[in-house]
Amino acid sequence: MTLITDRAELASLAKSFNGKRCTDCQALSCIGWESIPGSFTTKSLEQVGTLRPEDAAECWDEDHPNGTNFWSEAAPISMGFHPYNKSDVYKCKQCGCLYLRYTECGGYYVDERIRLLDPKLIS
Ligand SMILES: [Zn+2]
Repeated sequence: MTLITDRAELASLAKSFNGKRCTDCQALSCIGWESIPGSFTTKSLEQVGTLRPEDAAECWDEDHPNGTNFWSEAAPISMGFHPYNKSDVYKCKQCGCLYLRYTECGGYYVDERIRLLDPKLIS
């Protein structure tokens, strides 16, 4: 799996999609992070890369220089910060739209989360 460590590389990947999202993808809003709805078939997404270096130290810091929070639609996509340092990059097989996904593991739950990879938000 391609490890993406370079901001420019991630940005150019994000910019490779400039079409319209397919009807499957439109079921997701995920401008900010959201839990993947049970009705959404993740089989339509294929992994194209990862932002997760295997030997990286755990980092739970979030990056919000402009007063955003974890769920904000305007929260920056900051490589190296939580949860982007645990995310994989996926692409819709139908329309080519790009997403970030990671799994939140709480004490009693596992939550699959997804967010649109918007090139404007990569910081
Ligand atoms: Zn799609």
